[in-house]
Amino acid sequence: DDKKLDQIIKTIEANDIKFLRLELADIHGLPKSMAVPLKNANDVEDIVNDGLLFDGSSVAGLASINDSDLLAKPDINTFSTIPWRPESKGTSRFICDIYTTEGTPYDGDPRGILKKTLEKAEKRGYQYNVGPEPEFFIIKKDENGNYVPADEAEYFDVEPLDQGTDIRREIVFGLEELGFDVEVSHHEVAAGQHEVDFKYADALKTADAVITFKEAVKAVANNLGVKATFMPKPFIGINGSGMHCNQSLFKDGENIFYDPNTETQVSQEALYFIGGLLKHAQALSAILSPTVNSYKRLVPGYEAPCYIAYGFKNRSTLLRIPASRGLGTRIECRSADPSCNPYLAFSALLEAGLDGMDNKLDPGEPTEENLFAFSEEEIAEKGISNLPTSLWEAYHALEEDDVIIGALGDKVFNQFYNIKRAEWDAYRIQVFDYERDEYLNV
Ligand code: GLN
Ligand code: MG
Ligand code: MG
Ligand code: MG
Repeated sequence: DDKKLDQIIKTIEANDIKFLRLELADIHGLPKSMAVPLKNANDVEDIVNDGLLFDGSSVAGLASINDSDLLAKPDINTFSTIPWRPESKGTSRFICDIYTTEGTPYDGDPRGILKKTLEKAEKRGYQYNVGPEPEFFIIKKDENGNYVPADEAEYFDVEPLDQGTDIRREIVFGLEELGFDVEVSHHEVAAGQHEVDFKYADALKTADAVITFKEAVKAVANNLGVKATFMPKPFIGINGSGMHCNQSLFKDGENIFYDPNTETQVSQEALYFIGGLLKHAQALSAILSPTVNSYKRLVPGYEAPCYIAYGFKNRSTLLRIPASRGLGTRIECRSADPSCNPYLAFSALLEAGLDGMDNKLDPGEPTEENLFAFSEEEIAEKGISNLPTSLWEAYHALEEDDVIIGALGDKVFNQFYNIKRAEWDAYRIQVFDYERDEYLNV
């Protein structure tokens, strides 16, 4: 670690870095930061060793007002320089772990929660990997001041239809400067919608990357005069934005979801893991699809799942095993959307999957039919249940699920539950234009 720190100090000196940001994510997964001006590159050493005190009660979901002093301590593995800040007198950052003033890890820290779950899995020899596929919209204001998609292109379109080509180009360069291994970027199905995928890594690295990714995309878009949004369903009638989570479990460098000796080349462990994800799907929904708006994405017909089932080539199911095998064998969870907190999401997904493995939960036969083509009655006849259709259903399912509550810890669960309930209560008393259009004449 001393070596790493020396390297960081050298980088700061060589690149004329004048601000050091200490970043953390709130319970919604939104980045928060404080910037320390660096008078001297060596100041970094004290900041890394001592951390910085802050008011935890002002960060959503973190701490209560009567017990609010917390310590942000840089994780020196997360150092990077922020490419969208000025080059001269620049800004670097660390992502922080949160500690109590007594110096112990704080149990309300989502990043700490994920670390704990991963350590438990590591003790059993497992490395849990996630490769996310975050989607987003580039939007602009029309002449009436309403937000609309910034282009009219479709899936995989190129310029001039795709007005986002140059924006994605800048986003990719920015991400590469931040150390991302970007695998592919493309226009998505909906007008104004885009996807940029980066290489899978262990879940902690990926969760940090998701926070940084969203921050980078928004900042780069803003610098180019447009707005990027990760809202799950910004417009009725066109696809929403998901963040598919591709998961694999490695042991001794081997992917244990792969088994060359079965017909599908998918292992029994992978099937049990799926069994766990299916069993806990309702409660997981609160974490993976955590906003009122998330449930407007999870409706039939838009490549987003509504039913608790798994398949192979099927994009109408909650879970899918994509075609690649060997190290690339993975379970894709399609309900997650980019409004989730990735630390909590990965902790909950892993606990659900491990519960499936520990209890040998049989996921049954895969579903290979297009579920969107069936009526609700037909779906029910197949023994397939629905995902929650509202945040209300989801947080009530969470309340009943000890495995998923366990994946959050009591403190985070309570904070999360209360915040989600308040969000629902604020939403349910709204009266929308839609309702006046429908009911004004009754
Ligand atoms: N946008 C879709 C969703 O909401 C996914 C579409 C795709 O990746 N092909 O999940
Ligand atoms: Mg994709
Ligand atoms: Mg996609
Ligand atoms: Mg996908």
